[in-house]
Amino acid sequence: MNLLGIFHKKKSYSCLLLNNNLHFTSRNTLEPCCSANIGPVMVKDLDKKNSIREFIKEKQKYINMLKNGDIPEGCKNCVHLTSYKKTNYLKINKITLNHYTQCNCACIYCTQGNRTLEKIKEDEDKPILYDVLKFINELYDMSIIDKQKLYIDFQGGNISCLKNYHDIINTFINRGVGTIYIPTNNIIYMPVIEKLLAMKKGELCTAIDSGCSETYLKIKQVDKFNKVIENLKKYAATKKSQEAIRLKYIIIPTINDNIHEFKQFLKIAKMLHVKNLIIDIDARYSRMTEYNIDPYFINLAEKMNSIALRQNFVTEFYSFLLQNTNNKKMYKLNILQNIIKRIKFKYFNKKIKDLYLYHHYGLNRLFDKKFIF
Ligand code: SF4
Ligand code: SF4
Repeated sequence: MNLLGIFHKKKSYSCLLLNNNLHFTSRNTLEPCCSANIGPVMVKDLDKKNSIREFIKEKQKYINMLKNGDIPEGCKNCVHLTSYKKTNYLKINKITLNHYTQCNCACIYCTQGNRTLEKIKEDEDKPILYDVLKFINELYDMSIIDKQKLYIDFQGGNISCLKNYHDIINTFINRGVGTIYIPTNNIIYMPVIEKLLAMKKGELCTAIDSGCSETYLKIKQVDKFNKVIENLKKYAATKKSQEAIRLKYIIIPTINDNIHEFKQFLKIAKMLHVKNLIIDIDARYSRMTEYNIDPYFINLAEKMNSIALRQNFVTEFYSFLLQNTNNKKMYKLNILQNIIKRIKFKYFNKKIKDLYLYHHYGLNRLFDKKFIF
């Protein structure tokens, strides 16, 4: 290196998402990340592809570029860029399956467009864009997967609408996986999920948002409350699986924004022996108010939280913390509660520690400033 080179040595960068993540999207693309930036690597028309080797090669090319201090256009100003560390190399440990939008429910707050009963009907005939299974098998064949750490995140619509969900989950189980996160409405019972929970390899999250079938119907637009509870009972049959389930209560202004409904919801959680709860707020409302959530809802959430804590539930606030940064009160409340929980879990409650601390909506995100915008 000449003298000029020493003075102009470029800083090396890396991005953990670029190194470790794969995101199968519903736009018929494969991307390295689902950050606000697009990222440098993208494969289009996945339905016409037979291999993702090309994508992996591209990934490696951009990893090397960052290491050499050249930031690709798609990564400029991205919050995920960090200083280069030797431990940052290409190995897949998170796959987001977001390639389907089909669902058998019509939640009024759904972010997958305006859900109507007609949409449910349309979804029944709508084919899944592409089959991810061949790509998943290829990744395993390439020995590029960190089997122990691998975290699978089923996003998109509802998993039961994927005709081959059973094969996808069994492939992960048979070929090696750390955890599979399944957000589902639980309208359809899926035996493979029961198996997954019993193996301590799954996390299940269900938004019930109500404590009775009348309120449920207003929110979900399908009369499936009893079916969902019946299915949850099957999933929550063992202590292990009870710990792996989280029930969500999304506060929807004018529909379920009252303590009475919440107490009914707690009764169901108690009956199921499920301790992990999430209290959230309708994302449409947050957006409409530009995240200036009315104090009524902040107080309501606090009150719900203290009732739940008194009954020994474990609670998480997701949107209140991550979206409502304007509200210092709720922000502090969450930080404090989560610090206490972190200490408590670390030293006193090892069983739920893993589930809580390492969940991607949990404390890892909370203490990672990058996610607090
Ligand atoms: S730096 Fe940002 S845009 Fe680039 S791959 Fe990483 S997360 Fe995606
Ligand atoms: S279950 Fe999920 S995907 Fe289905 S309508 Fe409700 S929010 Fe949307």
